[in-house]
Parts: sequence; C-alpha cells; structure tokens
Amino acid sequence: MTDLKQFTLDELRAWCAERGEPRYRASQLFRWLYQRRARSFEGMTDLSKSARASLARTAVISWLPTARVEPSADGSRKFLFTLADGRVVESVLIPDAGRLTLCLSSQVGCALACRFCLTGVLGLIRHLDPGEMVNQVLAAQEQLSPGQRLTNLVFMGMGEPLHNYANLVRAVRILTESVGLGFAASRITASTAGLVPELRRFAAELPRVKLAISLSGTTEEQRTALMPINRRYSLRELLQACRELPLPRGRRLTFEYVLLREVNDTPEDAERLVRLLRGIRAKVNLIPMNEHAYAPYACPEEARVLSFQAILRAGRVSTFIRANRGRDVSGACGQLGLSHLQAHPHGAPRAAARIA
Ligand code: SF4
Repeated sequence: MTDLKQFTLDELRAWCAERGEPRYRASQLFRWLYQRRARSFEGMTDLSKSARASLARTAVISWLPTARVEPSADGSRKFLFTLADGRVVESVLIPDAGRLTLCLSSQVGCALACRFCLTGVLGLIRHLDPGEMVNQVLAAQEQLSPGQRLTNLVFMGMGEPLHNYANLVRAVRILTESVGLGFAASRITASTAGLVPELRRFAAELPRVKLAISLSGTTEEQRTALMPINRRYSLRELLQACRELPLPRGRRLTFEYVLLREVNDTPEDAERLVRLLRGIRAKVNLIPMNEHAYAPYACPEEARVLSFQAILRAGRVSTFIRANRGRDVSGACGQLGLSHLQAHPHGAPRAAARIA
C-alpha cells in the first residue's frame, strides 16, 4: 500500500496520472490530507464513491498517534510519537515571544555521535520518511489550544537532517505547499553538524529555508574531539562553505555553540570564535550543556556563559543565550531521545552505522 503522505504535490500528480485519475485529483487530495486532515478516504465527499474505493484499495493515509505529552514548567511541551515499527521519536513545542516553534526529528537516533549529545548515543537506527516528519507537525497541531498557531518549524530534534537529505527536501516541499499546510520556507530552519556537500546542495535547492550550523569547537582538534564529523569535513572547510553559501538578502546563518564547562567555554575560545566568523553574516546561539548521564560534560556557571557572550558581542557578533526551553523534558537541540533510552534499555547505547 502506498502512503500518500510520502508524496510532494508533483509526485502525487505523477502517481495520479499513472492511475488515470483526472488532473485536479492531486490538489484535491493534498487539501484533504493537510487542510482537512483526513485520516481515511471515506469522508472525502467531493470524490465519487468509486474513486474513494479505488484509492482505499491501493493507498493509505499515515498518521502518528501521540504516545505521550510531557509539559514543562516553562511552557514547552514534548511529544513522544510511536512510529509504525514501534520506534519512538520526539518533537518539542516551544512558545517564545509571540512565536510557537515546533522542533522536529528527522531520524531515529543519529550516526554523527557528537560527544555531548544524547541522541548520538543511540547511533543511527533509521531515517524518517517524509510522512513521518510531516505527521509530527499535524499531530502537534492537534494538541494546540484554540487560537494557537505554529509559527516556526526547526529540524533540530533527533537526527542530522542533512544525512536524510532526500526525505528532508520532500518534507519541506510538502510543508510549504500552498494547497497543503502552506508554511513559509523562511519560517523553517534546518540544522546541520556540518555535512558540507549536502549543506551547499540544500542552500542552492531551497534557498529560502534557514540554516543553522552546529559548531561547538574553535580549533580542529577540539571540534574533532567533540564532533567526529569534523574528521570528514574540517572546521576550515565548513566555514569556507558557509562563506560561499548564496544567502538571501538580509539573511544570516545561525551558529549553534554548545557550551561545555572548561572544555570549550574559555575566553580564548570566544576570541577564536570571533575570528572564525569574520566575513560570515552570522549570529550565534550559545547553548549551555544540558547535562545527562551519557556524556562527561557539565554546564558552565552563568557568569562564564555571560562573559563568553560579552566577548562575542564585543567582537560584533550577535550572540544569544538560548534559554534551555523544555530543559526538564530534554528539549534542547540534539538532546532528545532520553525517553527512548529509558524505554529500550537493552537497545542502548548501541553500536550503529556512523558516517563520521
Ligand atoms: S548533535 Fe545532532 S548531529 Fe550531533 S549526534 Fe546529536 S543529533 Fe546527531
């Protein structure tokens, strides 16, 4: 059976054409799937009975049941979704200054094994398909109060989105389709730990989508120790690619920097970071480490975080300290997955495919 949520509108058009369906059928189905949130063909009353029966014989409409909703004291909410194969992924809803952002997962686990990251402990279990990414949005929307509206989507949950390149691009195309959910591409952010060829390709293919680069180190040695992907694509190569990306007018690249006490939070690190970012339209988000049992790192004291920020600002780099929204529900970027570890104690940590 074919899950219709795998398809972009163009792909759905091709699928409908192959089946001899009329030309308008794909847009009609897209509206049912994403605007009216149909879960079966039965209720699609503007399709003939025979068309509905024929669709039901060959296609399905996937949906993600929410396994659990965990509210946080700061207003964030974490959703745990059980996939068809029983795996669990998480999304976090983060209200902030008039915005309502959903942090989405793109993989179950992650191959990149960043040393400070909880998801990395799992290794890559599998990629999510486009339907599984888009369904996180639909399921979260179901949980909103009347009058609430998702304003931003960030692919910063479990997984390295650019490692799941083709499915990510398809998910973004589905999310931004005007006869579907109609999200503005500029309200979507994809984050990467530094897959340089995919970063260049993505920026060329979907230039309106925002990009966030996880840096977290200011020398090659330090970054390699924290983020093994640096062996494959060095800091120098990554920053060169960032300099060359075709950014839309007024757009800046976001650099994420996880601050680890006495590892990468020194004044020398801050000064090096200023020098590294010279010539790049950049802003920096500082993320104090969200401590967990699987990484030997601690969160720096507040004064140290503030002085790191002050050095960057003195170097004319816009710098924000990212409030650890949803901290009590493991909501910081790249730090989802704890519940998965707890739910599957025999499966984790496990050796798995690594690309770094
Ligand atoms: S920080 Fe991101 S890229 Fe690195 S292991 Fe975690 S999920 Fe993967």
